[in-house]
Amino acid sequence: MKVLKFGGTSVGSSKNINKVISILENYGKSDTVICVVSAVGGITDKLLLAGKQAQNKEQAFLNTFNDIKEKHIDIVKTLNPENSASILNEVEEKLNGLKSLLEGIFLINELSPKTSDKLVSYGELLSSYIVAETMKNRGISAERKNSQELIVTNSNFTKAEVDYKATNKNIQDYFKSDSKTVTILPGFISKSKTGEITTLGRGGSDFTAAIVAAALQVEQLEIWTDVSGMYTTNPKLVKQAYPIDKISYQEAMELSHFGAKVLYPPTVQPVLSLSIPIHIKNTLEPEAAGTIISNDEVTSTKPVKGISNISNIALLTLEGSGMVGIPGFSKRLFETLSQEKINIIMITQASSEHSICLGIEEKDAENAKVAIDAVFENEIALNKIEPIIVETGLSIIALVGDNMKNHQGISGKMFSSLGKNNVNVRAIAQGASEKNITAVIAEKDVKKALNTLHEQFFESKTKQLNVFITGVGNVGERLVEQIHQQKKFLKDNLKIKMRVVGLSNSRKMIFAEEGIDLTNWKAQLEEGEAATLQGFFEKTKSLNLRNSIFVDVTANKNVADLYAQYLRESIGVVACNKIACSSDFENYKLLKRLSLKYNAPLLFETNVGAGLPIIDTLNNLVASGDKIHSIQAVLSGSLNFVFNNFNDQTKFYDVVKQAGAEGYTEPDPRIDLSGVDVARKILILARESGVEMNLEDIKNKSFLSEAGLKSDTVDDFYETLIADEAHYQSLYASAKANNCQLKYVAKFDQGKASVSLQEIPEGHPFYNLEGSDNIVMFYTQRYPKNPMIIKGAGAGADVTASGLFADIIRIAND
Ligand code: ADP
Ligand code: ASP
Ligand code: MG
Repeated sequence: MKVLKFGGTSVGSSKNINKVISILENYGKSDTVICVVSAVGGITDKLLLAGKQAQNKEQAFLNTFNDIKEKHIDIVKTLNPENSASILNEVEEKLNGLKSLLEGIFLINELSPKTSDKLVSYGELLSSYIVAETMKNRGISAERKNSQELIVTNSNFTKAEVDYKATNKNIQDYFKSDSKTVTILPGFISKSKTGEITTLGRGGSDFTAAIVAAALQVEQLEIWTDVSGMYTTNPKLVKQAYPIDKISYQEAMELSHFGAKVLYPPTVQPVLSLSIPIHIKNTLEPEAAGTIISNDEVTSTKPVKGISNISNIALLTLEGSGMVGIPGFSKRLFETLSQEKINIIMITQASSEHSICLGIEEKDAENAKVAIDAVFENEIALNKIEPIIVETGLSIIALVGDNMKNHQGISGKMFSSLGKNNVNVRAIAQGASEKNITAVIAEKDVKKALNTLHEQFFESKTKQLNVFITGVGNVGERLVEQIHQQKKFLKDNLKIKMRVVGLSNSRKMIFAEEGIDLTNWKAQLEEGEAATLQGFFEKTKSLNLRNSIFVDVTANKNVADLYAQYLRESIGVVACNKIACSSDFENYKLLKRLSLKYNAPLLFETNVGAGLPIIDTLNNLVASGDKIHSIQAVLSGSLNFVFNNFNDQTKFYDVVKQAGAEGYTEPDPRIDLSGVDVARKILILARESGVEMNLEDIKNKSFLSEAGLKSDTVDDFYETLIADEAHYQSLYASAKANNCQLKYVAKFDQGKASVSLQEIPEGHPFYNLEGSDNIVMFYTQRYPKNPMIIKGAGAGADVTASGLFADIIRIAND
């Protein structure tokens, strides 16, 4: 004998019902089959909606009724194209009954729990009838039995309790004969001892099947649904979730109690004591293995078996000094909720007994508050306790696993990964059995939290990075290309899944939560929405994805001004833009503080020497306890280019123009030639060495002519270069006479910094610096005489992009 249950989606369309019938037909060849069906998918909700509308005197209940009617008639006709008349007759008769009931509710303006149960019972009555009659039409030996004649309950409408003694007897008597017939039973519905229609609670068809399976002591209960088993977490919210092949009853119960809708929580109870395994299978993919729930020793190395969530939670907090040490408060609190038939999902109590915190369904919050405040009226009036505090918009998430008790550090990992991703935890509960750890968080954070925890406990070797890039000019474009090109390498070798979720230039921006397809990002960006800096931030924030990183590839002050906002949302910042880190010291310090506080990295390696690992090296020296004595460096690719090409055969103006044309200088060459850019770089190195310094503190002796320094516009500046050629030639001549090369040098020594053009003699490490190369020499406590030297290309789109790339990877490895 087999007991199978098919859920709403499985009987939700004619196509799926055909699948169900073929499964049943197959089973029926060799065994007696009992099949419990849910209502057609979505119909129970629609019945309740129609009831509410009728109760509220909204004529729209008729539209809802018509939707319900059409759905069923359409299914009957499609399933039975030739001989649907008699089935249709009966279905229409039932629907007429439903319509009358709704009209009655409309008339009296009232929908009691008792009437509500009568109303929803139409869903299962219709679906079971249609499935059974269609099978008969096709010559399959099938029978429908109304389970209301089998399952006896009390009169607790909408969630009635089963009288097992009477129920088991009814079921055993009815299925005495072992005929090779498929019996179709409507799930969810039952009857009270006094003969009124009751239901077993939303999702209760699973329960019906378990009751029947237990009464008949079958070998196995099969729950057929629309997913291939019980997943590691809700597959609708976490793409990486996967089916669990074996799980214990306890674990399944915990997961379903905490929201894994795939199994109605009470289902386990009747089969547990008889050790009847539950097999969860997918109607849409019958060949998939599914999940077996049983008592079998489950050998798994994973301490956490699954993660579940319940939405629409309210948190009630009862607190006050008058509660401490006085017995009876919790009793009265729980009694009140029980009288109001309010289900408590979780409880926490501070050890000081100063407060008790309860998680309940949001829909019950109002009733709970009124009832509790009334019960504690006296104590509230005497200021012994506060009126109950109700918080809404919350969700519960729970880690579940029998094995968690044998592993240390699970909750540590849970809360630190939530914290890192800025998920605020409002309350925590852990059962003494340590089968679950429960946390209450904001509803808006659920998807992020589940993905974070799933990554932490089930994909521990891979890390997803969600990157948002602003500025896709020369450097930004290369960065996007590098990410695209390295995607597979990162995944295979570094276990990093990097996806670009947001992209923006100064005009347009685009977003794709699952990652932008980088094969044609430029065309997509052209079609994007109008970009604003704040709009980009808001969207990044609202997507609320774990491990989010904002990448600034602009040189724009307004972008730099937004870093604090990003960091406050625990979004990491990677920048080649130097403005923030060379801005006012207070601002630099604030950003560093925010980065620490919100666990959001702020990395800017490319601020100095493009892709060269200068800042990272400096940070490592400092972190390992070394002391920086002095730094000497040539840090301007543009000035190097200029002075490497300038001589008595060339004109200073021409060389500067050429540097601009080849992309070595900023559009305004004064930023490079005035030394400001180099000053910003040495400032950043000085600050990273631990010194408080501002740009004004850096001595900057300019080599520009008087007129050049005073010029108002870029054009005027170029004019001065032509007019003052003699001044520049004199700089060259002096260096040549001294057998020196001209290099623009940045120095940091004894807490002071300077930048200036210098004549570098032969033999000095700076002397042979070519092209746009940079060089940095760190003299430290550990490198007192022979400095640590870093040298290489210090400018260019490719190397800058790879520096940004390295910063992003650094965050992944954090
Ligand atoms: P049925 O109508 O077949 O009873 P339900 O909608 O009640 O189906 O339950 C199946 C749904 O449960 C899935 O489609 C999925 O969205 C949801 N679900 C939530 N958590 C889990 C989980 N951990 N594993 C599988 N499904 C889950
Ligand atoms: N049809 C009922 C519901 O939607 C019972 C079930 O599907 O299990 O809640
Ligand atoms: Mg269900």
